[in-house]
Amino acid sequence: MKSNNTTPSANRFLPPPRFVWPEGHRCAAMLCFDVDGETTALSEDPTLARRRTLMSQCEYGPRIGVPRLLGLLAHLEVPATFFVPGYIAENHPRMLEAIVAGGHEIGLHGYLHEKLAYLNEAGEEAVLLKSIDILTRLTGTRPVGFRAPWFEINPWTPALLARHEITYCASEMGDDVPYRHDNGLIEIPGQWLLEDWEQFAFNADPAWGFVPENCAKVFDLWWREFEAMHDFSCCFVLTLHPWLSGRPSRVRLLEDLVGAMREKGGVWFARGREIADYFRAHPQARRELDFDAQETADCLKP
Ligand SMILES: [Zn+2]
Repeated sequence: MKSNNTTPSANRFLPPPRFVWPEGHRCAAMLCFDVDGETTALSEDPTLARRRTLMSQCEYGPRIGVPRLLGLLAHLEVPATFFVPGYIAENHPRMLEAIVAGGHEIGLHGYLHEKLAYLNEAGEEAVLLKSIDILTRLTGTRPVGFRAPWFEINPWTPALLARHEITYCASEMGDDVPYRHDNGLIEIPGQWLLEDWEQFAFNADPAWGFVPENCAKVFDLWWREFEAMHDFSCCFVLTLHPWLSGRPSRVRLLEDLVGAMREKGGVWFARGREIADYFRAHPQARRELDFDAQETADCLKP
């Protein structure tokens, strides 16, 4: 499936590495699974609970997608980060145990996959505290990572997360390597390009998503981004939903993608917690690009 229709020229643009990764790795890869499950529908409208076919499609994620994807991750021997809404954790506690048993990280993803833009600060804090309590109680470990439902955070979210000892956020899209918010909170940014919803989501009513894409096209889309990120020493953050990417042909897609990434070499497959810990211990690892950032100004000083 690997695309060979472009031949890099000898004088191809190759900028200095954006980030110095541990042990000489060329780039990092964070595989994320957002286990939205039933909350995909329930957060939109609680009365959708009586729509059995819709709900069964959502339930496919925690019930079939996660077990199958855990099997693939064990087969490939790569770690991942699972962002799980509190409601899903409460309703699928043994699924949660299996994720932990597989050696993967579990991070926060709201309680009922709430859109934070519609909450005030007190409401958002209440959801955060409830979710921390649930994940801590059910996994035995306090979560340190947060992925906002729909990727959208509020201006006060970094302060809220820091106040409750969450050490990294994986919700913004402002770079392709980790950076710090003004309060020091670490951000591990994602992007819509590396998301499966845009490629695979579809439901007739309510109307969700688009025409499901061919896996060969999606492989090409993600592989090209990975290859360039590898050249530029970026952090490849792939976000998948088990109700979409747990389907058989997409599990094969992920297997092929990770296999090709491994073949390329120099990839640090890491959980969000490890990437955040590394950046905290090595604040100089990041190379600033923004002409208007203070770090760039400092570098340019004579
Ligand atoms: Zn989600």
